[in-house]
Amino acid sequence: MKIAIIGAGAAGIIAAITAKRINQKIQIDLYDANKGIGKKILASGNGRCNISNSDITNENYIGENPDFVSYALKQFNFNDFEKFCKSIGLLLDIKETNKVYPLSNEAKSVVNLLEETLISLDVNIIYETRIIDIKKDNDKFELISVSNEEKKSFKDYDKVLISSGLAAAPQLNATEDGMNIAVSKFGHSSNITYPSLVGLQTDFELSTKVQGVKKEALVALYVDGQKEKEIFGDLLFTKYGLSGFSILDISQFAVLPLEYYQDVQLSINLFPNKNRNEVLGMIESLFKSLPNQSAVLLLTGIVSNKLAPIIFEINKIDKESLAKDINAKQIRAIVNTLTNWRFKVTGTQGFQHAEASGGGIRTDEVDKPARNSFNS
Ligand SMILES: Cc1cc2nc3c(=O)[nH]c(=O)nc-3n(C[C@H](O)[C@H](O)[C@H](O)COP(=O)(O)OP(=O)(O)OC[C@H]3O[C@@H](n4cnc5c(N)ncnc54)[C@H](O)[C@@H]3O)c2cc1C
Repeated sequence: MKIAIIGAGAAGIIAAITAKRINQKIQIDLYDANKGIGKKILASGNGRCNISNSDITNENYIGENPDFVSYALKQFNFNDFEKFCKSIGLLLDIKETNKVYPLSNEAKSVVNLLEETLISLDVNIIYETRIIDIKKDNDKFELISVSNEEKKSFKDYDKVLISSGLAAAPQLNATEDGMNIAVSKFGHSSNITYPSLVGLQTDFELSTKVQGVKKEALVALYVDGQKEKEIFGDLLFTKYGLSGFSILDISQFAVLPLEYYQDVQLSINLFPNKNRNEVLGMIESLFKSLPNQSAVLLLTGIVSNKLAPIIFEINKIDKESLAKDINAKQIRAIVNTLTNWRFKVTGTQGFQHAEASGGGIRTDEVDKPARNSFNS
């Protein structure tokens, strides 16, 4: 049997290794447009490779068809993944948060071990070859590629696996070619694709003054006025808007409504462990205890140097005020910003800065494979 795999990312590499381990006699040709394998693995987790999570269920996935993921997780759960890693010499560091990293803390070592495994199993890796078309004739597949503007054809494949991902991080040669071929040539249908796990642009005009401030916050997503999701985690103020883990996570639910021109807003609570009255009491008693101190200076002790003056500015409170000059209404306004700071989301940082893509081939059109389908 001869199989072509398009895309030497995490999915294509593991598919190639698994197929070869099931039946060493299969010929596997693994094509990639890049010069090397696993370019996105190298970029992941800021080069540390946050490779998995030890507590995964289908609830951690987004899609119209949760059963698709349940099936995959049943076939290959975290224990299977850990065993697979051990089998290629990769030891894991499982953090208390359930985040999993390679023990080396280096994405490069993950890619090196995967590459060595592919080579030892005699997988043919064909680099710098972008597959632009697939033809099927008499049950055999033919791949058409471009490499250095030269067209080539690769024939006689019994099976083709399209694992070429989608368009997140086009600077790493990410394309939607595979999805387009599956739709145009093999009758699949697709959902709209969109950048996901991505920074969100907001209408906040003073962003540049607070860029770089990092806080832990509870972030709530509102779509057309309805609260859709709440996520606690790191929040980073940037010159274009907001980023950090909490924003990347919530972006998965924010981008599609944006694509459909719905009203998308974020509410940021910088004190999620206190209720509103506790925050109010904290500020009132601070201002009361140091009445002749600069009010904005006192607030810097609670939030941050950069945020405090901006909170005064957006609430139109004089930054020269002493604590004793701040009235009850102004304190309530400050508390409102600290616990329910509203931002209108105007866009995303796009595929260039996205860690993943949403949408793509409809999973209800993908058959569940038989475990022994590589045995023939
Ligand atoms: C900056 C960044 C940080 C990330 N951090 C994390 C993290 O910490 N943890 C985590 O779990 N995930 C992270 N991710 C996401 C993770 O890297 C991806 O979800 C995963 O690597 C996707 O694997 P894949 O095999 O499905 O697709 P890809 O890695 O996209 O692989 C597809 C391959 O197909 C090739 N290809 C595309 N089109 C063609 C074509 N026409 N012909 C031939 N080859 C083609 C591409 O060159 C690519 O090598 C991050 C992603 C990015 C961009």
